[in-house]
Amino acid sequence: MSGIDSLRNILELERQKDYTDKAVIGGLDKYLHKQAGQIRQSINDPHLLGGFDELNLARSNYSTYSLAERRRWMAKVLDWLDKLEGKTAKNVGRKPVVNKPKAAASRPREKRTEELDSPITVIKGVAINIANKFAKLNVRTVSDLLHFFPRRYVDYSQRKPVSALIEGEEQTIIGTIWQARVATLGYRKGTEAIVGDETGNVRVVWFNQPYLAKRFRTNARVVISGTVGVFKGHKVFESPEWELLEDKDLIHTGRLVPVYPLTQGLYPRQVRKWTKEAVDGFACQLDDFLPSDIKTRCRLLDLPAAIAQIHYPDDRTMAERARGRLSFDELFLLQLGVLARKRDWQEGQPGTAFNIDQEVVSRFLGCLPFALTQAQERVLQEILTDLQQAKAMSRLLQGEVGSGKTVIATLALLIAAANGYQGALMAPTEVLAEQHYANICGYLSKVGTEEAGEGTVMRYTGFLSRPLTVALLVGSLSSAEKQSLHDQIKQGELDIVIGTHALIQKDVEFSTLGLAVIDEQHRFGVLQRSALRQKGFNPHVLVMTATPIPRTMALTLYGDLDISVIDELPPGRQVVKTKCLEPQDREKAYTFLHREVSNGRQAFIICPLVEESEVLEVKAATTEYERLSRDVFPDLKLGLLHGQMPGNDKEKVMRSFRGGELDILVSTSVVEVGIDVPKASVMMVEGAERFGLSQLHQFRGRVGRDKEQGYCLLIPEKLSPEARERLLLMEKVHDGFALAEKDLEIRGPGEFFGARQSGLPDLKLAKLTDLHSLELARQEAMTLFQSDPDLKKAKHKPLRQQLNRAWSGAAEWS
Ligand code: ADP
Ligand code: MG
Repeated sequence: MSGIDSLRNILELERQKDYTDKAVIGGLDKYLHKQAGQIRQSINDPHLLGGFDELNLARSNYSTYSLAERRRWMAKVLDWLDKLEGKTAKNVGRKPVVNKPKAAASRPREKRTEELDSPITVIKGVAINIANKFAKLNVRTVSDLLHFFPRRYVDYSQRKPVSALIEGEEQTIIGTIWQARVATLGYRKGTEAIVGDETGNVRVVWFNQPYLAKRFRTNARVVISGTVGVFKGHKVFESPEWELLEDKDLIHTGRLVPVYPLTQGLYPRQVRKWTKEAVDGFACQLDDFLPSDIKTRCRLLDLPAAIAQIHYPDDRTMAERARGRLSFDELFLLQLGVLARKRDWQEGQPGTAFNIDQEVVSRFLGCLPFALTQAQERVLQEILTDLQQAKAMSRLLQGEVGSGKTVIATLALLIAAANGYQGALMAPTEVLAEQHYANICGYLSKVGTEEAGEGTVMRYTGFLSRPLTVALLVGSLSSAEKQSLHDQIKQGELDIVIGTHALIQKDVEFSTLGLAVIDEQHRFGVLQRSALRQKGFNPHVLVMTATPIPRTMALTLYGDLDISVIDELPPGRQVVKTKCLEPQDREKAYTFLHREVSNGRQAFIICPLVEESEVLEVKAATTEYERLSRDVFPDLKLGLLHGQMPGNDKEKVMRSFRGGELDILVSTSVVEVGIDVPKASVMMVEGAERFGLSQLHQFRGRVGRDKEQGYCLLIPEKLSPEARERLLLMEKVHDGFALAEKDLEIRGPGEFFGARQSGLPDLKLAKLTDLHSLELARQEAMTLFQSDPDLKKAKHKPLRQQLNRAWSGAAEWS
C-alpha cells in the first residue's frame, strides 16, 4: 500500500472514531511527523506539492485542536487527497471526463473558511442587490442558502445518444457544437445550433436568446437537457437547458436538476450556481448535531451529505434519503421542544393537587337537565384525575361543536373554586365570552341560589361552603368596571372569571389562579396560552378546541399536551342536512332562505375565500352584501361581518344577529368561531370549493343548534371533478375527525392548520401526514429525553444548540 493510501485509511478511520485521536497508536501527530517526508516524495505535480506543504503535516498539531478544529483540519487534508488522487487517476489515462458527467454533490471542491452565518454576499457573484432579493425568500446567510431547499427536481439524468432520442421525453445528450448562430425564429432573434455525437446530429434552438450564439464556440463540448420535439419532420430541442462541458460538475443538465422557489429578479441558472457554490464550499462546515447512535439506528445520512444531496442528488434514492434525514431533523427537534416544554410545566415547579369533592361533582351533575354522554364521562374522569396530581394538568380537550365541552369545563372550574382557588376561562371574542358566561351562569343557577352582584358579577349561595362568585371581564367594559374587577380578582374575591384577551393584560393579577381554561385554542398562539398560564403559580391548564385535529398531527403540534376527545354528540342531535348545488341553482337556494326566514329562522351566507388578500376578500363580501340587500332580499334585514371591521363593530353585528334583529348575516370566513345562534337554520357557503372540509364542517356547526333541522348549502364557483368529489363528502360524512383526516390527505397540513400561527418551528420538508417518520422521531426524542433530558452531556451540546436555534423564532415557552 502506498503512503498516500495508508494516510487516507488512517484519516478515514480517525473520522469514524469521531476525531478522538485514536486511529493510530501513539496519536496522529506522531504518525504524520514520521510519514510526511515519504508522502511528499510521491507527489510530482508542483501545484499539489504547494498544497501539501501548506498542510504542514510534518509539524501537525492535531492533538491540541478542539473538535471543530480537528474536523476542519481533516476536511482540508482529505480534500487535498481528493485532488491528488483525481490528478493521478487522470495521468494514468482513464476515460476522458467528458463521457462521464460527475455527480456534483459528492465531492466538495474549494472549501471555504468563512463562517456559515456570513452574509450570502461571500458567495461569488452574489452582489448586494441579489442578496436583497434572496432576503425576500428569507435567505440571508450562507447557512440559510444551504437550507434553501429545492421544491422538486427535473430529471435530466436520462442520457441518450443523439440517434436514440425519443420525441416527447426529457433527455440529455452530450455532444459537440458543430455550428451556432443567431437566427430568426418566428419573428424574433434567437440562437440555433447543430450539436452532434458519434451517432448523429440534432438541431437545437433557443428563442429570444441571440446572445447565446456567442457563447457556443464551434467544437465546444456541450450538454443539452430538455424535451425533444419535432419540427418539419426533424427532431429538435427547443429552449433546452444547456451547459458547456468544462472540468466542472454539471448542475443544469445531465442529472436531477434542482428547481428552487424563485422571486422576481432571481433566475434558475444563477440560483443553481450559487447553491452549488455554497454546497461545495460550506456544507462540510455544518456541525452534525444528531447523535451518531440515532443516525445509525434510523439509517440517516450525515448532515453535510444530506444537505449536499438535497440540492444536487446523485439519484432519486439519494434525494429521498436526504429528504428523510432533513425532515427527521425537523420532526425530532419539534418533538424534543414540546417534550421539554411539557416537562418544564409539569416538573419544573410543582402544581396544585386538588381534592375532588364527590359531593360537589354529583350535586352539579344531578342538577343538569341531561345525563352526560359516555364520552363526556370518560373525559371528565381524565380531567379529574389530572387535577388531583401535584403536577400541573396540560390537556387538550377536543370535541365537535355542541359535543358539550363547556359543561365539563364548568365542572373543572367548580372543583378549583371548591379547593379555594380561582379559575379563569378565556375565549377569543367578546360574544363568545358572553355566551360562556351566560351558559355557565345557567348551569350554576340550577345548583345554587342566584344573587346578582354588581355589574357583571354573579353570586351563588347554598352550594359551596361560601358564596361562589362568577364574573365577566371583557375589553368593552368601562374602565371603572374593569378596575373594580381587577381589584376583586387580585383580592381573591372572584372565584371564576370568564373573559377575552382582557384576562391576560398586564394589570390583571390573580390572587390564586389554580385552573386556566382556554377555548377555541387555534385562535390563540402559544404566547397567549403561556401568558394566561403565567398569571398563576403553575396552574392546571385545559385547552378546548372544536377543530378536530387528526391524531398524528395533534401528537406533533400539541405533543406538550395530553389529549382528550369527546367523540360523541348528545343524543337526539340532528345532523345538518348538507347539499352541494350547481352554481345555477343559486336562485333556488335564495328561495329556500326566504322560506326559512319567514318561518322565523335565520341564515348565514359565507362569501368566498380570497387567498391573495384580505382586502380583496372584504371588498368582495361588501359588494355581495350590497347586491343581496338590494336585489335579492330587499324585504329582509341583512348584516355584514368581515375581518377588517373594528372589534367593537364585529361584536355589535354578532350580537344583533344572535338577538334576532337581523335575518341574514353575510360574512367572510371570520364567522367560524364558536358563536351560538339558536335560531339560525341555514348556512349557505359561496365558493365552497375554496374552503377545506374541516372549515366547511365548522361553518355548518353554526346552524341547527336548536331542535329544528339545520341545512347547509354549498355553492361552488366552478366545479372540477375533484372539487365535486371533495364537496360530495360533505353530504355523506358528518364526523369532523373523518373530514379532517380527508382534508389533510387532500390538501396537506399547511392549508389545514397554519403551523406558523401555532408558534412552533417551521416545517420545511417534513410532512405531518407521514405517520412513520413522525413516530420514529417521537420515539427517538423520548428515548433521548429519558437519558439526558437537559441535553447536558458533552456529546449532546451541538444538539442542544440546534434545539435552541430551531425554537428561537417560536414563542417563548414557559
Ligand atoms: P361545545 O362547547 O362543545 O360546543 P356545549 O358545551 O356548548 O358544547 O354544549 C352544547 C349544548 O348541548 C348546550 O346547550 C349544552 O347544554 C348541551 N349539552 C351538553 N352536554 C349534553 C348532554 N350530555 N346531553 C344533552 N345536551 C347536552
Ligand atoms: Mg363551545
